[in-house]
Amino acid sequence: MIVTVKTTNKESKELLSILDKAKIKYFLPKNIKSKWVVIERKDEDKTYELIKDCSDIESISYHNPYPYELISRYFINNQILKFPAVDFSDKNFVLIAGPCSIENSQQCEKVASICENNHLHFFRGGAYKMRTSPYDFQGLGEEGLKILGNTCKKHHLYSVSEIVSTDDIDKFKDVDIIQIGARNMQNYDLLKKVAALHKVVLLKRGFGAKINEFLYSAEYLMLYGAEYVILCERGIRTFDDETRFTLDLGMVSYLKTVTYLPIIVDPSHASGRRDLVESMTMAAMAGGAHGAIIEVHPDPDKALSDGKQSLTLEGFEILKKKLDKLGKAIDDGKNVL
Ligand code: PEP
Ligand code: MN
Repeated sequence: MIVTVKTTNKESKELLSILDKAKIKYFLPKNIKSKWVVIERKDEDKTYELIKDCSDIESISYHNPYPYELISRYFINNQILKFPAVDFSDKNFVLIAGPCSIENSQQCEKVASICENNHLHFFRGGAYKMRTSPYDFQGLGEEGLKILGNTCKKHHLYSVSEIVSTDDIDKFKDVDIIQIGARNMQNYDLLKKVAALHKVVLLKRGFGAKINEFLYSAEYLMLYGAEYVILCERGIRTFDDETRFTLDLGMVSYLKTVTYLPIIVDPSHASGRRDLVESMTMAAMAGGAHGAIIEVHPDPDKALSDGKQSLTLEGFEILKKKLDKLGKAIDDGKNVL
């Protein structure tokens, strides 16, 4: 059960004292301006009767058929993430493009120019990398974040970068969207600490994670203070290994019935192959995804990570043109941002 209160959750003294007296368990989401109180579902009807006339309350959402609270479409029907100028809604298909790893400023400069020229709003780049082999490039660290920040400022783009450890929390204060990677989707300590920055978080689905595990991780982020969560399907491990992972597009359609959070796809990691990225992105767009995160590199064959799946600059521009065309053809039209 979620109660929306008139002030902030901490100030709703009357409601909280009723709950305390009746020994009913509740949670106060840590969002700065949170007006929500999550109340345990046990004896919901009784709790409803107990609190319904309380003067602190604006509305009560209960009898939710799904086990999620703060991320549930049952609770909020059509909230749209407005990231200053960018709507993650069904009207748009938002592209987040950039290299897998930040390697140097010239590399970022080349990709970011293409992003800006194509009217994108977001630029991605990993400064801290979680590599399978300890001998592989681990990222430039703080230096990488600096390059990312400067590049984004110059090209009027919002930055997206992955955090891999709670030790680095303070270094991510200037990153616009913090990415939590597939390997850390269930690192609950990291989720809580990142949420406490009160930023937008891009949460990738673990490649072995079930949908409910994915959604509960998003629920953690919302409970512990994230401003908003963007969900990302990036391919799961199945019995087949012809492609790097298997892009679970069915999940995108399913999630839209359960949650109001935007859902984007990552065709680069899902396929592991440059030649499949275009068709998978188009399929995701036609299937109702709110966007895609795509790896792009000026010279993919020399990339320090994930070159095989990275589009060239030309390849990305071709994809953008195709998406613009597809956007005009489907539904009432989608803008590619
Ligand atoms: C990435 O985006 O570069 C990345 C490592 O993604 P994932 O966590 O999905 O593997
Ligand atoms: Mn990568």
